[in-house]
Amino acid sequence: MYIQDTINDLKQRYSDETEYLQAVEEVFLSARPLIEAHPEYEKADLLKRMAEPERMIRFKVVWTDDQGRVQTNVGYRCQFNGAIGPYKGGLRFQKNVSQSIIKFLGFEQTYKNALTGLPIGGGKGGSDFDPAGKSESEIMRFCQSFMDGLYRYIGPDTDVPAGDMGVGQREIGYLFGQYRRLKGNFENGVLTGKGLSYGGSLERPEATGYGAVYYLEEVLKHLGDTIQGKRIGVSGYGNVAWGIMKKASKLGGKVTYFSGPDGYIHDEDGVEGEEKLGFIKQMRKNDPMHCRSYAEKFGCEFVEGKKFWGVDDLDILMPAAVQNDVDLESAKKIAASNAKYYIEVANMPTTNDALNYLRSQKDLIVAPSKAVNAGGVGVSAMEMAQNSMRLHWSEEEVDEHLKKMMKDIFDCSVAAANEYGLGFDLVAGANIAGFRRVADAMMEQGVF
Ligand code: GLU
Repeated sequence: MYIQDTINDLKQRYSDETEYLQAVEEVFLSARPLIEAHPEYEKADLLKRMAEPERMIRFKVVWTDDQGRVQTNVGYRCQFNGAIGPYKGGLRFQKNVSQSIIKFLGFEQTYKNALTGLPIGGGKGGSDFDPAGKSESEIMRFCQSFMDGLYRYIGPDTDVPAGDMGVGQREIGYLFGQYRRLKGNFENGVLTGKGLSYGGSLERPEATGYGAVYYLEEVLKHLGDTIQGKRIGVSGYGNVAWGIMKKASKLGGKVTYFSGPDGYIHDEDGVEGEEKLGFIKQMRKNDPMHCRSYAEKFGCEFVEGKKFWGVDDLDILMPAAVQNDVDLESAKKIAASNAKYYIEVANMPTTNDALNYLRSQKDLIVAPSKAVNAGGVGVSAMEMAQNSMRLHWSEEEVDEHLKKMMKDIFDCSVAAANEYGLGFDLVAGANIAGFRRVADAMMEQGVF
């Protein structure tokens, strides 16, 4: 009753924020056994306090394009939950960015960050700025104006943004440059995903993809299986998908399908080797909307305007593109295919009805994104640690920490599901484990 009543109230209050409501419902319902075992949560109005961002900052971002026209965008920073540490999470620059999308991402980030076991709260930000077709100097001017609106709300112990879609190392560089200019000091711990020349961490660009593959290895190991010879389908070809391709091929798996907004690629030989991986990196930089040129270059199949969910020659599916990539119709095709593992990577890539459907399939292992993709933000927290100690870790050190972190996330999810008699349920386990860490910190800090 308590959970459903809370969800209903939120649906009334935020009726137009679909993605946000979807994320809240998924976490609260998955953590049901834990919430029901703790009547003190209801007394403390904990669910509403967890669903409400501590702060939602909205600012205008005005910049001038190369033709001298003045352009106005909206910037957001949602400081969702700071109970465990400074707000931490990426910035997304994409045309469709709205308050609901930033709020859902900030909410998810809170539980994902808690799962890392590191002292980071949850936040997210971004803008409806569309980076497609913008020149280098337009990107720089936009980033500078964006930071003009944001700098007074962030800091190494307050809120530490990073990249997300449309924000990579180049944008972080411009954002940090402007922050430094405005503040007049060198606080490089204010942002992560930086270049190596001013305090970035080795392996941060690969961390989300590598972490996802390390998590996948834990799942396989637990079930007495291995990645050797497995055929993997990854949606997307951005930074995260690229990291998965790089690591999976090193470990003996084969990414034989990937996709873009224009359709999907089927490369029977697998995406592996410097040439293919380098091509994908360049393709993403030149044109994040089309992947067709890969098929032309390497002579493989391209299927226009379609998704590959449901094809019969894949063992492992890793949606790594956008939210709500897999709906109920795709989920039914997946369930009818030979795939054995559905490993979410992008934030909330599955609609709630599709996720419930997939979870109800006996022969399919389902893992949730907030556990699988936590390696990215985890290495960001390591970047913060290196910045505050004013030193650099070697790639081996970062990798060792990342591997261990992914194993811990997997283990604590398995343990949490077992504790509540749920069996091998990675979705419930991760939500319970993440929720409990945030709840404990909030309960101990009193009512506010
Ligand atoms: N945007 C990434 C995420 O979804 C990374 C955030 C970070 O490194 O702070 O977790």
